[in-house]
Amino acid sequence: MLLASGQFMSFYIRIWQSCDVGGITRHLLVVGDVTADCANCRELGIDYANAKTCPKCGTNFNFIASRNTGKLDKNRGGTVKRIKDRRPDLTMIDYEDYKEITGKQQARDFFG
Ligand SMILES: [Zn+2]
Repeated sequence: MLLASGQFMSFYIRIWQSCDVGGITRHLLVVGDVTADCANCRELGIDYANAKTCPKCGTNFNFIASRNTGKLDKNRGGTVKRIKDRRPDLTMIDYEDYKEITGKQQARDFFG
């Protein structure tokens, strides 16, 4: 959509892509209300705006997700924009998708 000012108005849309969940977990930063945690070692209190690697396990972050982007989170568009503005270098994935897949995988490992 072209605005009267001549600029394009941008929107966020989720892209469905096949992925290696284990590879994501090893390099994923999960953003909470203020700080983030490392999905690889579960270290808490990471400054997601600046951290390139985990201060505890040293993994480099390639992916980022937010706990506040579910269907019931009213301001999820604002949350996505805030994170993407701060970390354009990371691929943002949907936390609910991630939890669903890792939950299924754990159930399979458990019952396997
Ligand atoms: Zn870590």
